[in-house]
Amino acid sequence: MSSDAAQPGAGAAIDFSAMARKYAEEREKRLRPDGRDQYRPLGAMGESFARDPHADPRFSRAPVHREAEVLIIGGGFAGLLGAANLRKAGVGDIVMVDRAADFGGTWYWNRYPGVRCDVEAYVYLPLLEETGFMPSEKYAKGTEILDQCQRIARHFGLYKDALFQTGVASLDWDEAASRWIARTDRDDVIAARFVLSCTGLFNCPKLPEIPGIETFAGHCFHTSRWDYEYTGGNADGEMTGLAGQRVGLIGTGSTGIQCVPPLAESAEHLFVFQRTPSSIDVRGNRPTDPAWAAALKPGWQRERVWNFTKWTSGVLEGEDMVDDSWTAILREAASITGGRSGAADPAAMQQAEILRMQEVRDRIASVVKDPATAEALKPYYNYFCKRPGFCDYYLEVFNHRDVTLVDTRGKGVERITPRGVVVAGKEYELDCLIFATGFDFMAEYGRESGMKITGRNGLALDQHWSRGARTLYGVQTHGFPNFFLMRLVQAGVSINYMHTADTQTSYIARVIAACREKGKASVELSEAAENGWVDQVLAGSAARRAFQQTCTPSYANREGRAEASLELNTGYGGSGLGYLHMLEAAGADGRFPDLVFS
Ligand code: NDP
Repeated sequence: MSSDAAQPGAGAAIDFSAMARKYAEEREKRLRPDGRDQYRPLGAMGESFARDPHADPRFSRAPVHREAEVLIIGGGFAGLLGAANLRKAGVGDIVMVDRAADFGGTWYWNRYPGVRCDVEAYVYLPLLEETGFMPSEKYAKGTEILDQCQRIARHFGLYKDALFQTGVASLDWDEAASRWIARTDRDDVIAARFVLSCTGLFNCPKLPEIPGIETFAGHCFHTSRWDYEYTGGNADGEMTGLAGQRVGLIGTGSTGIQCVPPLAESAEHLFVFQRTPSSIDVRGNRPTDPAWAAALKPGWQRERVWNFTKWTSGVLEGEDMVDDSWTAILREAASITGGRSGAADPAAMQQAEILRMQEVRDRIASVVKDPATAEALKPYYNYFCKRPGFCDYYLEVFNHRDVTLVDTRGKGVERITPRGVVVAGKEYELDCLIFATGFDFMAEYGRESGMKITGRNGLALDQHWSRGARTLYGVQTHGFPNFFLMRLVQAGVSINYMHTADTQTSYIARVIAACREKGKASVELSEAAENGWVDQVLAGSAARRAFQQTCTPSYANREGRAEASLELNTGYGGSGLGYLHMLEAAGADGRFPDLVFS
């Protein structure tokens, strides 16, 4: 840190060194020796906990045996963009498989009350021009996003060959036939020439291993399996089933903060159990202006998507089209770092983040009336340690008599009993307990996808990736021909995942089209290119890893514990924008020097 002087415009004077020390102390409080092992999957609480509340449990069908040009595993936005870009590249024969009962991915599972996307809808929802849809608000509700998933599926004719409520259990490369043989949990066998694995970024919900968790006698569920049969209502709230009920919510991440306002409205009393507060920034949602929408020229969405990624990658040129809290923080940071990236000047970046967080803390103090509650809601860590939250009516909820913030001072819930939740020796009696405790992220691919994958010469993917992923661009891996992955591991990280997914699937579609045009049976990443990318990822991500080590524990830094087995499961080190430019250029001239066609 170059200076401890207060900056103008930052409210009260800030002692930056003292604040950095306070951040370190708060982190220390939260570090646990068990790291990620403090969580378990939903299924560990019994099958009913993990069941799909939106699907017909009696669904059955005869096993399917068929061939396909392309098999896409996962019907969320990544899979849908994969299919759309393949269709645009002239591939007709596509089979899609998903465990859910419809398309939608994350937005299929996460239908909790208040669910919205915190990235502007005009850049987040893909294929708006192609499907002729305009979101009704700047930040869309989950229901509208789920509708767009299904609209895309209809537009590209994907329902016809979709297999829902079906999980792919294994994929084996048949060298002689140059086909992947996929076997599912419904005894289907699909022989596919190409496979896209689009199994999701947040598809493994988790529960904390809180002592006594299985003894709770009231009703309980995870936010990604919201039980509207019990609560009544829908994603807009109006949960009449919670009338007269004492409801507890564990978790105050991006999901928890969206659930709190509708829960506070419906429950007799809401207890919010907090371990670490989120930063809550201004949202400023508004309806779409019909005159603005009518004046948009063809190609507007692509231009806006790139503009947002540029601004959120620190390239502050021309008009800031989206102009929201995401772009504002980067603008403020650039004014302090003098336009240099956070990696180039970490001290200046931390100063920028401290200033931003001070604004967040000042806002809490001005909204929340009870000083002790306000203090407990203040986040003390660097702004980008956790996904920032945005909400114009979360903080206000804590001024209601019927809402109690139970701050666990960084320690988490102590115990769960048949009657309720215990924190600092005090038992809070509850009728209903909801876990907004998140998902595994960038972890073991085999566990996340639920698939056993065997490539050339019997090589298991888990074995090839025993120290984490080995890829080019995060999408291909050596020894696994005609196989593509949609993940963020070893890929560029940008705030708008949809931009990444569209660029990745456009690249994949180019590779597949080239393989078909060349009349080749397979396309595989060369070992040299894989080694080169892994080295580049590791070297480039050193600055981010160093930053994450200063962060409060969360899924983003594996709960603050380095894990050798996942050492390579990190993002591409350069800017998200640089990654997208690189990927867009790859193979654009028809040449693929890193790939072997045979
Ligand atoms: P998170 O992992 O962000 O949050 C989990 C919460 O559970 C944290 O507050 C965590 O506390 C808390 N927790 C865990 N264990 C305990 C315990 N033993 N006692 C008390 N509290 C506990 O999960 P989310 O589902 O909120 O979000 C995951 C990601 O999904 C987001 O980061 C975002 O990327 C995405 N998302 C995006 C949205 C959007 O608008 N686009 C909306 C919702 C989610 P602690 O912080 O201390 O670990």
